[in-house]
Amino acid sequence: MDLIPHLIDGKETESGDGARFATTDPWTREPWAEVALGGAEEAGAAVAAARRAFDEGPWPRMGFAERGAVLHRLADLMEAHRDELALADTTDMGKPIADSTSKDVPRSALNFRFFADHARLAAGDALPMDSGHHAYTRFEAAGVVAAIAPWNFPLMLETWKVAPALAWGNTVVLKPAEDTPASAAILARLALEAGMPPGVLNVVHGYGPGSAGEALTTDPRVDRITFTGESGTGRAIARAAAANLTPVSLELGGKGANLVFADADLDSAVAWSIRAIFHNAGQVCLAGSRLFVQREVHDEFLARFTAAADALTIGDPKDPVTQLGPLASHEHYQKVRSYLDGAEADGGTVVTGGTGDGWVVRPTVITGAPPTARVRREEVFGPVVTVTPFDTEAEAVAAANDTPYGLNAMVFTENLSRAHRVSAALRAGTVWANCFFVRDLRAPFGGVGDSGVGREGGNFSREFFTEPKAVVMAVSPA
Ligand code: NAD
Repeated sequence: MDLIPHLIDGKETESGDGARFATTDPWTREPWAEVALGGAEEAGAAVAAARRAFDEGPWPRMGFAERGAVLHRLADLMEAHRDELALADTTDMGKPIADSTSKDVPRSALNFRFFADHARLAAGDALPMDSGHHAYTRFEAAGVVAAIAPWNFPLMLETWKVAPALAWGNTVVLKPAEDTPASAAILARLALEAGMPPGVLNVVHGYGPGSAGEALTTDPRVDRITFTGESGTGRAIARAAAANLTPVSLELGGKGANLVFADADLDSAVAWSIRAIFHNAGQVCLAGSRLFVQREVHDEFLARFTAAADALTIGDPKDPVTQLGPLASHEHYQKVRSYLDGAEADGGTVVTGGTGDGWVVRPTVITGAPPTARVRREEVFGPVVTVTPFDTEAEAVAAANDTPYGLNAMVFTENLSRAHRVSAALRAGTVWANCFFVRDLRAPFGGVGDSGVGREGGNFSREFFTEPKAVVMAVSPA
């Protein structure tokens, strides 16, 4: 079996004690590669390398154009290695290869292009003062960034953190999720090939608690921690970071509400709602896992939605026609299965779906689940949706907001005033009206409540990865 190494200070290495773990292909359910298992020692070495590269190296001292050129070269290389990167994520976590190839890898390359240009073109404030002074702002790189990533969109979410951090002149230690180490190792290799100096981007593999992940969150040499993952993990990381007062950005779980009004374009609402919950087998923080449908169209919508769910092509994620593959790991499959079992015990009815072969959960539609049911309250993170009728707009908004999460929500209506009114009333970081998953990389991305702290995207990423400095200058002599 191949070995997936760490990349520390520009060198591919194993762990000091030679420890390894296996990464499993969830379709074959067999280990497919061995991975260097890092702990505190490897995390510490990576932070030391990043610290040196920041304090003494050329990276933070380069101009934006020069640094941006390296990031654009990296994006070129990612596009040239598209198939290798796509296969890595698909083999690691079972994501359909058509999605990895046509969506995840191109967007990951775009993350570097976007933030390279965004940083180069960004302007600060110039503030002429009545007192005869002049103030202006500088956005200075924060230092060493620890980026801790989840397994559901491995390369895409890693680059969404790494790209702005690097574009603003920081150095990075990336810890990919233990289930999906492969694409990050390729990314690190390509970064060196693109001309990134050693120590600027380091990758350490390992677990969270008591392992490489936790070591990064307690290291006083780290200046920023950017994390995407579960809300419980986010709380643990915030606690660890508090000891050193290290700023944290937390992108956490979700329980997206999807409101379909009787005046919606039903064809479009069905198509978007299918994508909202079954894309990536529902392993999406933004999944529209709670569907609320106005009573007049509920039965017709449910019939069409269920038929479309049944028509999805399930199978080997490496087959280009597959739309829904297995869940990412056996542990995760068991967790999702427990929600299916619990849904019926809580009073719900499984209209279609259930478990399939291996670690597959088929597109599952549940009706009649009461507001207290676990499947309606907790993040399932699988292809499982509850469908509930509502009568009035106020009732729909209240039901949508009845959750500790607040990452995103969707509203389908042809009534323009209602679209604006409901978008304003929903407690969420993003609302999509008559669409889903459409992103402008300048827009804020993040959640309220248990869905996170902080925002990513455009200037929001700049705020997090820089120290804004005010310079005040006397223009006329005192
Ligand atoms: P997870 O929290 O289990 O793990 C995420 C990462 O944190 C992994 O790299 C893991 O090794 C590491 N980790 C775990 N415990 C740690 C600790 N104590 N200290 C430091 N690192 C630690 O999450 P997951 O299962 O990989 O991902 C799924 C979750 O991510 C879901 O809840 C999903 O909603 C969320 N998510 C959120 C967004 C968003 O943008 N809001 C996007 C994607 C996924």
